Amino acid sequence: MLSERILGSLIRDKGREGRRGFTLPRNDVDDVEFSAIVPKERLRSEKPGLPEVDEPTVVRHYTNLSRKNQAIDTTFYPLGSCTMKHNPRANEVAAANPGFAGLHPLQPEAQVQGALQVMHELQGFLAEISGLPAVSLQPLAGAQGELTSILMVRKFFEEAGDAGRTTVLVPSTAHGTNPATASMVGYGAKEIGVDEHGGVDVEELREAVDETTAALMITNPNTCGVYERNIREISEILHEAGAFLYMDGANMNANLGRMRPAEAGVDIMHYNLHKTFSTPHGGGGPGCGAIAATDVLAPFRPDPVVEREGEEFRFARPQKSIGRVAGFHGNFGPILRAWNYIKMHGPELRDVTDMAVLNANYVRAKLGGTYRIPYNELCKHEVVVQPPEGKKALDIAKGLIDFGYHPPTIYFPLVVKEAMLIEPTETESKETLDDFIGAMLELAETSNEELQAAPTGAPTRRLDETRAARKLKARW
Ligand SMILES: *Cc1c(COP(=O)(O)O)cnc(C)c1O
Repeated sequence: MLSERILGSLIRDKGREGRRGFTLPRNDVDDVEFSAIVPKERLRSEKPGLPEVDEPTVVRHYTNLSRKNQAIDTTFYPLGSCTMKHNPRANEVAAANPGFAGLHPLQPEAQVQGALQVMHELQGFLAEISGLPAVSLQPLAGAQGELTSILMVRKFFEEAGDAGRTTVLVPSTAHGTNPATASMVGYGAKEIGVDEHGGVDVEELREAVDETTAALMITNPNTCGVYERNIREISEILHEAGAFLYMDGANMNANLGRMRPAEAGVDIMHYNLHKTFSTPHGGGGPGCGAIAATDVLAPFRPDPVVEREGEEFRFARPQKSIGRVAGFHGNFGPILRAWNYIKMHGPELRDVTDMAVLNANYVRAKLGGTYRIPYNELCKHEVVVQPPEGKKALDIAKGLIDFGYHPPTIYFPLVVKEAMLIEPTETESKETLDDFIGAMLELAETSNEELQAAPTGAPTRRLDETRAARKLKARW
């Protein structure tokens, strides 16, 4: 985030009334009376007050801003639970293809057969990877994939005439979006604790499940990077009570080709295509939270899905659809990139998972001994560590900025004090990991006084994070 001083010195003060950096085509449309179309109170009475500047000033402004950011294209970015991995440039070439990029969502199906084929094939890939045959590509983000899934569960119970299901269970290691989803759909969210391995406490779950339970939302691997080893037993407990097992599969780069959710008893799940199958997604988008479900839940999928009839691809409305959850067909860009990414790997897709898990465990092994590892067992794609006694996660994170790294996720998961959640991802080399580990070990030896001064080399020093969160000022 940039201080007002930097923003101001760059552009606000450089504006001069009437200066232009663009040329608009000549207006060849008859003058319209705007107030006839837009209600008067919606019309501006004054100019918006933007700086009026020439093109070089604008270019420098945005280029300088971009250089003040840390990004996956400039540095290692081990942001746990967010999967900031390299996005292959081949994906961008595919996404920029005018044959795709220039499509309009209202074009007739006959003109967009290629795009429909991509969607149809991706539905098939995601069904194959999860073992869950009914896919929808419509949700625009992971959190929306969760929402879609739980809306489908709710509709199932409505159709079944079962009005007594009022609760969704959420383990304390779940992603924060899980309980939020449950309550947005109108369910009460009930928390389930963790056992000594960092997994769901099965006994507590057994106690909590009853005829009011609609579903359990399980993140697997969970936000401690731990695989839920009892997932089968967990699914049986739910199924016996007539409830569903939903899996947050945002981090499927820990499972690809190694674990099929359907075989573990999962009824419905979401993917984060932008994480697992690589779409640049810093700053909140664009994404795709595709879902996959069993045949039982298939009729409730959002409208439309892509079907194949002979050589033709077409949109179809699932029988008892919950309706649309996004405009048109969702975010086509991440869909195309995911298709490309999966095709590029082919049968070796499993290597993604093997490398992600290997890299996380390498970091775990090298930091262990200096950093505390609360669940010191084989982890999956990410590892949670704690700084040495007497040091704070925040200080280590700020220190990493001076080494040129984007800090990992800190103070999350909530079940671990002073947590640092490190996700190296599969796209980083051993040399990069060794450099990062070196920085972490050096910071562990640095005095608290020095650490508390960090970052010293960034465009801004430490921000008042409480004020930033409570009184966010996103415009000037
Ligand atoms: C990232 C993530 C989400 C949310 O995904 P968005 O696309 O940011 O909405 C949900 N669950 C888990 C486990 C995640 O890592």
